[in-house]
Amino acid sequence: MLLFISVGLVIIAMTLWNWHYDIRPRLVNEAESNARVLAASHARAIESQFQNIGGKADISVIHNSINEMLLINDPSTGESLYRGIALEVDYDVFPADYDMVNIDVGVTECNVCITSENPIYIHRTGELAAILKVYANPIFYQRLVNDIVDDLAIMLGGVIIVLVLAWLTSNRLLYNLREREKSLVIEVAERKSVEDRLHQIATYDQLTNLPNRYLLQADFSRKLEETARNKKMLATLFFDIDHFKEINDMHGHEAGDALLKEAAGRVSDVTRNYDLLARFGGDEFVMVMSNVDNRSDVIYVAEKIISSFNKPFSLPDADVQVTASIGISVFPEDGSDPSELLKNADLAMYRAKADGRNDYQFFNAEMNLELQYSQWVETNLREALNNNDLELHFQPQVNLDNGKVESCEALIRWPQGSNDNVSPTDFIRIAERTGLINEISHWVLQEACRHINDWTDKGFETVRVDINLSGKDFVDKGVLYSFLQTLRRQNLQPYQIGVEITENILLESTEQVIKALTLLHNAGVHISIDDFGTGFSSLAYLKQLPLSGIKIDQSFVHEAPSNKDDLIIIQAITLVGHGFGLDVVAEGVETEWHESLCKGVGCNTMQGNYVSV
Ligand code: GH3
Ligand code: MG
Repeated sequence: MLLFISVGLVIIAMTLWNWHYDIRPRLVNEAESNARVLAASHARAIESQFQNIGGKADISVIHNSINEMLLINDPSTGESLYRGIALEVDYDVFPADYDMVNIDVGVTECNVCITSENPIYIHRTGELAAILKVYANPIFYQRLVNDIVDDLAIMLGGVIIVLVLAWLTSNRLLYNLREREKSLVIEVAERKSVEDRLHQIATYDQLTNLPNRYLLQADFSRKLEETARNKKMLATLFFDIDHFKEINDMHGHEAGDALLKEAAGRVSDVTRNYDLLARFGGDEFVMVMSNVDNRSDVIYVAEKIISSFNKPFSLPDADVQVTASIGISVFPEDGSDPSELLKNADLAMYRAKADGRNDYQFFNAEMNLELQYSQWVETNLREALNNNDLELHFQPQVNLDNGKVESCEALIRWPQGSNDNVSPTDFIRIAERTGLINEISHWVLQEACRHINDWTDKGFETVRVDINLSGKDFVDKGVLYSFLQTLRRQNLQPYQIGVEITENILLESTEQVIKALTLLHNAGVHISIDDFGTGFSSLAYLKQLPLSGIKIDQSFVHEAPSNKDDLIIIQAITLVGHGFGLDVVAEGVETEWHESLCKGVGCNTMQGNYVSV
C-alpha cells in the first residue's frame, strides 16, 4: 500500500514539474503564436474594412464594424466574448488636430501584448489616423489555460484512477495472498492432523488405545538404556488371557473385543504412569516395569494384574469370568535386549499356562533349555513328517468275554535310530504347542486308513482302528471336514475308524468340541475318552458328550492288584460307564492278574502289553 501511495506521489510531483517547466511554457508560446496569427488576420480584415469605408465612414460605424468582427458568442452560454484579441489606439502618434478615437472593446487586462503587423490609422472624420494595436485577450487566454487545466485534471484523474485501480488490485492481491496464507495454514493443520492420525494408527492399537507392539519395542529400548544407566532392574510381564477363544466362540467376536477393551482398562488402572503397557497382539499384553529395585515390586504388580481379573466382565449377553497367565523376565539376568526379554517372558507365560493358568511365573534357565529342545524337536519332527519317517503301531483291544480282537489303537512312533528317541508324549506336546499337531493327526488318519485297506487287500479280517485326536484338531473345522473326506476317498466307512480324545480336550473349547464330536458320532464314528480319571474329570460331560466308550487310565490298572483305592476307582468308572451305556476299556493290562481283575469288575475290553505281544 505504502508503495502505491509513494508511486502515486512521485507521479503527481513529476506531472507538476513537467507542467511548470515544460507544458506551461509551451502552451503559452502556442497561445501567443495563435494570437499573433489571429491578430494579424484581424488587422488585415480591419484594414480592408477601413479601405472600403474610405474617408466617409462614421467612427461609430467603424466601431460597430470592429466589434462585430471581434465579438463571438460562447456557444454554451450565449455570452459575448472577445475573440482573443483586443485593439488599442495609441493616441500619442496622432497629430493634435485629430480627434481622439475611442474604440473600447472591453479589454482591460492583457497579459500578452501582440502588435499587429500593419498599424492602422483612423481619423475622426473617418480617415485612417491611429495605430491599432492588437492584444491577446485574457479571457481567451484564460480559456486556453482552463482547457489545459481540464486536460491536466483528466490526466490527474487518470492517474488517480490508475492509482485507485492499482490500490484495488494490490488490495485484491493482498486479500488473495492472505486467503492463500489462511488456506495454507488450514492445509498445513489438516495435513498435520492426518499425519498425527496415521502415526496414531501405526503405533497404537485401535481397539484398546494402548501402544501396539511397534511402539512398545521403540520405547522398550529407551527404558532399558535408562534402567541400565541407573543400575536397576527391568521386568517384562507378558500376559495372555486364558481360554479367550471360548469367549469369542460362545459370545461372539464383538463380545471378545469388549472384553479385551475392558481388560486393557483394568490393567491400565494398576499400571504406574511411568511403566509401559502395550497390546502385543490377540489377547496378549506386555507391561515393562523399568527402574525396579527388587522382585517383590514385580510380584506385587503381577498379583494386582491377576486380581484385576477377579471381577466378572459384563458382556452384552452375559457376565463372564476370565483369568490371565503372566510370564516374567527380568533384566539383566534373563536377557539384555527387548527381543530376548520378550521371548523369555513369553516362555515363562507358557509355563504359567501349563501349570494351571491364572498365575504368574518367572523365567528360569531351564525354560530356555526346554525352548531349545522344543525348537529342535519341531524342526526334526517336521522333517520326519515330510520324509514319512513316522510310524504307526497297533495295539489290539480284546473283548474280555470272548477273547476276540474287536479293535485296535493306532499309536504313533518316531523311530530315530538312536537310544534317546523322543517319546510320543514329548513330541505330541510340542506339536500341539507349535500347531504341527494338525498335520500329524491328518497323517495318522491317512496312515490308519491305508493300513486297513492293506489288511483287507491281504485278506485279513479287519477291525476298527482308533486314532488319537488332539483338542487343537477340533479348533480348525477343516480338520474334521478332511476327516470324513479322507474316509470317503479311502473307501472306508465311518465305523471303521474310531476317535480317542482326552478329558483335557474339554478345556480347549467345550462348545466347539461338542459340536464336532456330535458330527462325527452322527456319521457313525466310534468316540471314546482316553486316559479316563487322570485329567480334569467331571462326570457331567459324560452326559453331554456323544461318547461310545471310556478307557480307564493304565495307572489305575497297574496298581489295582495291590492298591485297593485304584481298584475302587476302576469299579466306580466301570459302573458309571455302564450306567451311560458305554463300553469300558481297561488300559495297561500287562498280566493275567490284571486281566482277571478287569474282567471281575465288569470291564468290556482290555488293552495292553499282555495282549499285544
Ligand atoms: P490360552 O488359554 O492358551 O491363551 O488359549 P486362548 O483360548 O486364550 O487362545 P490364544 O491365547 O492362543 O489365542 C487368542 C485368540 O484370540 C485367537 C483369536 O481367535 C482371538 N483374537 C485375536 N485377536 C482378537 C481380537 O482383536 N478380537 C477378538 N475378539 N478376538 C481376537
Ligand atoms: Mg489366550
